[in-house]
Amino acid sequence: MAVYIFPPPATISLPIKGISARFAVQRLFFVGRNYHAHALEMGKPVDKSTERPFYFTKATQALVQSGAKVPYPSETQNYHFEMEMVVAIGKAGFRVSQERAHELIYGYAAGLDMTRRDLQLLARDKGRPWDLGKDIEHGSVCSEIVPMPEKIIDSGAISLEVNGQTKQSSDVNKLIWNVREIIADLSLFYHLQAGDLIYTGTPEGVGPVVAGDRITGRVQDVAEVALDIS
Ligand code: MN
Repeated sequence: MAVYIFPPPATISLPIKGISARFAVQRLFFVGRNYHAHALEMGKPVDKSTERPFYFTKATQALVQSGAKVPYPSETQNYHFEMEMVVAIGKAGFRVSQERAHELIYGYAAGLDMTRRDLQLLARDKGRPWDLGKDIEHGSVCSEIVPMPEKIIDSGAISLEVNGQTKQSSDVNKLIWNVREIIADLSLFYHLQAGDLIYTGTPEGVGPVVAGDRITGRVQDVAEVALDIS
């Protein structure tokens, strides 16, 4: 057995609805600009006929479970929420066709892609990587994983409130690239594996939070997510 000079990091995992076994999390993938109204509010409209989806990743160590209370992050004046439906991958796949994409799905969750918006836009406009704007400690939030093996979700309300006031309200039927298209395209670049989470993008209405705020959100028939900022 290997000996380490310091304790190796613990396995990062999420609870699974209805069973005691946990979902060991591998990688966190995020789809950028996947609702037209959000792309427009960011000033970057999407033309699906000529563009492909794009992605960014966050360290798995950035993940916190729904219900957490997390500190307002350093080095930002504009910390934003993004409510997203999360696809939980349960089976490996590479270069998966859209027709077979459902075979990789273990279930779904409700997630938050928290963003240092000021730093993300600075990086975007200067052609720099997005890491400081996106890969934020405690900046990926996820509900329990809800098992829905091989199910494709194509519709359902998605919404978010801050301190009870509605900020985002849309439907996952407005995804520019749907779940089949995302899995097929992302699997051209990565060998998807059990434990990967794919945040599918946020609808319009993103905005800032401050210390003391409580974020609540949900994906219809999937799960709710909550986060307190301290
Ligand atoms: Mn996002």
